[in-house]
Formats: sequence, C-alpha cells, structure tokens
Amino acid sequence: MISTIQESLGLSDRVLNLLDCGVIVLDAEARIVVWNGWLTPRSGRGAARVQGQPLLDVFPNLRGSRVEAAVLAALTEGSITNVPPSSGRSPFPLRQAGSFDGAPIEQAVTVTPFREDGECYCLVEIRDVSGIAERERRLLDHAESLRARSYVDGLTGIANRRHFDVALERELRRAQRGHGALALLLVDIDSFKAYNDHFGHQQGDSCLATVAQAVSTMLRRPADLAARYGGEEFAAILPDTTLAQALSVAETIRAHIAGLNLEQAPAAVHRQVTLSIGVAAYDRTRLSDPAALIEAADKALYAAKRGGRNRVVADADATMPAVPAL
Ligand code: GH3
Ligand code: MG
Ligand code: MG
Repeated sequence: MISTIQESLGLSDRVLNLLDCGVIVLDAEARIVVWNGWLTPRSGRGAARVQGQPLLDVFPNLRGSRVEAAVLAALTEGSITNVPPSSGRSPFPLRQAGSFDGAPIEQAVTVTPFREDGECYCLVEIRDVSGIAERERRLLDHAESLRARSYVDGLTGIANRRHFDVALERELRRAQRGHGALALLLVDIDSFKAYNDHFGHQQGDSCLATVAQAVSTMLRRPADLAARYGGEEFAAILPDTTLAQALSVAETIRAHIAGLNLEQAPAAVHRQVTLSIGVAAYDRTRLSDPAALIEAADKALYAAKRGGRNRVVADADATMPAVPAL
C-alpha cells in the first residue's frame, strides 16, 4: 500500500526504470537530470556517470543532428518535436542490450518541453523501432516480389497478359513520340487441342512451357518482350522493328520450333509441334492503338491457320516498302 509522497516517488523511480524506452530529462542548459535504466545497457553508461553532464558532451555525435535542433526548439520555443526513424542514421549511439557489440538500435525520438518550479526542462523519449523497421523492410520486399510475380505467367515463366498490355501501350506511345517502328507477333500452337487429347493436359502444360521458353530465348534484343497472350497463344513485342524485319524474326521462331521435332498427336495437322504466326507493324495512319495492332496481327494469324498452319503471315493491308530495283 503506497501512502506517502516519498513512497510514491520511490515507485515512480522504479516505474521509470521499468519503462521499455529510453527516458532522458534535460534542464534549461541541456544538462542531464534524469537517465532511466533502459539506457544503461544500451549506451554502456549508467545514470551516475552522466548525471549533470551536457547532453552534447555525453553524445558529441548529436551536434548538428535533428535531435539537437529538437532540444533547442523545446527549451527555447517550448515546441514538441517527433524525430522519426531514418534508415541508416540513428541519432543516439545505442546498441541492442545484452551484446554491446550488437546491432545499432533504430530509433524514434520525441522531445517534449515542460516547466517545473518556473524552470524549463525537456523530456527526451527514445523508442527502439528496429523490429518495426525490419518488418517494414520485409513487407516492402514482399510487396515488391508480389508486384513482380503479378507480371509473370505462372505456368511458363514469361510475361503474362497484364505485362503484355502494359508493355504494348508503352511501346506504342514511344513509337508515336519518335519515328520509331514497332512490330507485333501473335503466335499460336497448331492443333493443340489434339495434343492435349492425345498426351494429356499435364504434358500439354509442359509443352506450353517449352514453346514459351523457346520463343522467349529467340528474341535477341533487350527491349523485345515475349508474353503468354492466352491459353496456347503467345505474343512478341518488337520495338524498333519494321514489318519486314519482324517477318524474318517470326520465320526464325517458326523454323526453330518445327526443328525441335516435338512429337505431335496423330490427329494433328502436322507430325511435330508447329506454330502459326501473324505479324503486324505500327502504322501511324492505320495501326496506332493496341486494339487495331492486335486485330491486324490476329487476322494475319487466322490467315496462317487457313493457309495450312506452320507458317508466318503478314498483315495483308500493310504497305510494305518497295523492294529496291537491282
Ligand atoms: P489450331 O491449330 O486452329 O490453333 O487448333 P487448336 O487445337 O490449337 O486450337 P483450339 O483453340 O481449338 O484449342 C486450343 C487448345 O489449347 C484447347 C485448350 O485445351 C488448350 N489449352 C489452352 N490453355 C491451356 C493450358 O494452359 N494448358 C494446356 N495443357 N492446354 C491448354
Ligand atoms: Mg488458340
Ligand atoms: Mg492453337
């Protein structure tokens, strides 16, 4: 039972030393008048050693810091300041308790002025936010990896449809700004329903992944993008590429996949896994938005299917540059 002020002061001291944060009280000259137990193991200094000493003598590295400015503001203007944690710069040289060589403590500091018997004082509270900062970093890493994953197709490991949509918009804008060329390939696996029916859906999945990786590695330029456009359809965005150049890239891809000689189902049109590819290119007057460009490539793809599959067809309405006469 606490009945006297003396006893209650003793209790305040005990509570002060039990607090899970650093507490320093400074007088009007910024000399330390209170130093709680939390600080001792974390600073390597006990209250008796620092009592009455100017804060900046005990911690010379505070000179010019936001904490020094906050203490000045508290003692001269009576204002409260929060000094939030800033990564890599902890104001007080404090280390995790238990191991003085331990990790530096990331800190949030609050400086609050008060008056007692007509004298100015300020209370400096120091909170260990290392755990919070670490958690925040982990959350940011996690968010970053989710963001990255949300642009990758889970089955094939290449860009997904969302990534394709964003990239096509961006590349079209770039082509519009400059005088750049831009080509689009739409790639569809031939007779894939027959493949699935014959080999099963799982082997179908691994065939999709093989074709996706092959298409992706056939694109040589860093700005080229291979994406899974739909079920067994892929797309390739080729910046700075004319229709004629894109047709040659498409033909290389088609020939490469056919050359892999991946066994096809007996009911398929061809004996090995093959691709049909439709190719269209940006055209300022005719194909200047994503929908129009995709539609033109899709029409060409359809023509490739009708023409017997395992072939590359160009957008029929494109005006190809005249072949120079010899
Ligand atoms: P075509 O030569 O005209 O392109 O014939 P197709 O059989 O490839 O075309 P269709 O559109 O009739 O069939 C596409 C097939 O692709 C049907 C579908 O089961 C299969 N498919 C789509 N997505 C996946 C997938 O993620 N995994 C597997 N294994 N199969 C898929
Ligand atoms: Mg298809
Ligand atoms: Mg198909």
